Amino acid sequence: MSSPREVIIIGSGPAGYTAAIYAARANLKPLMIDGMQPGGQLTITTDVENYPGYPDGVMGPAMMEDFRKQAERFGTEFVIGQVIEADFSSRPFKLKTDFDEFEAKAVIICTGASARLLGLEGEKEVMGRGLSACATCDGAFFPDKELVVIGGGDSAMEEANYLTRFASKVTVVHRREGFRASSIMLERARANDKIEFLLNKKPAAYLTDETGKLNGVQLVDTENGEQSDLSCDGLFIAIGHVPNSSIFKGKIDLDDAGYVLVKNGTETSVDGVFAGGDIADTKYRQAVTAAGMGCMAAIDCERWLEDQAH
Ligand code: NAP
Repeated sequence: MSSPREVIIIGSGPAGYTAAIYAARANLKPLMIDGMQPGGQLTITTDVENYPGYPDGVMGPAMMEDFRKQAERFGTEFVIGQVIEADFSSRPFKLKTDFDEFEAKAVIICTGASARLLGLEGEKEVMGRGLSACATCDGAFFPDKELVVIGGGDSAMEEANYLTRFASKVTVVHRREGFRASSIMLERARANDKIEFLLNKKPAAYLTDETGKLNGVQLVDTENGEQSDLSCDGLFIAIGHVPNSSIFKGKIDLDDAGYVLVKNGTETSVDGVFAGGDIADTKYRQAVTAAGMGCMAAIDCERWLEDQAH
């Protein structure tokens, strides 16, 4: 194992890259462990219209490429792989990836969150066979097909709109009448004549054909409990996210949902371990707020390292 790094950043979304830019410019020579999905959630979105500085919008993957180049320009070193074990019980901290082991004086956690699934029976079997949690990844597989999107937040509206590029019809199924989606996103979906809404219904079972491919969903009415079947060629789940924190369980304090608890900005319950972005944010969860928290984490980390040196 090589000598301990000043700082290792885990995760490469807007928070991780921004932390890397700031840490690199502070001459901390950061090492970034990319994670399962380099670039994070934005690499599976389309147009980002609300990130300041892009008046005409930007594609999520292109934006993450820009972030990465900027982190690289100031000397961030990248390692492909996923952290499978973290030991924060003594310093230097130890991180194990699928291929290697690293030590660091400080760690910044920016592991973000992943799509939440419904957890219904047979989910694994139909995933990729009519079931998806990513419209931008799989939408093009459904030309002129009838699709269903589950959820009532911004993600569901965004996915439904996006899917109308391919599908003949998209039905948004939501479990109540009120929406979490922002009014601009909701209005855009309502104005799209390929989109229909089915409210007060929640999915109860996946329906499949004789080959095991999904061909519909069984719904339950949340008001009267009545069951009904809705046939479709594809079902897209857009019901929010779960934090990617399983490797930190028992190592740092997490809230009940598994989000990393931070205080005074980005400090975790372990001295020298900082967190920023969606992994530590249950409220805003935007690219720009994640980037902001990444910056804060790098500054907090730099000051902490400086204090340790004196
Ligand atoms: P969200 O706002 O938490 O919405 C999740 C939706 O899924 C809610 O409507 C929820 O219903 C529903 N849901 C949750 N569990 C369910 C279940 N088991 N069965 C059926 N429905 C279920 O999540 P999100 O839409 O992913 O958005 C997350 C954050 O990202 C938000 O801050 C959002 O503004 C942001 N975002 C922004 C953009 C953009 O601006 N372009 C795009 C996407 C996301 P209830 O409402 O009944 O709880």
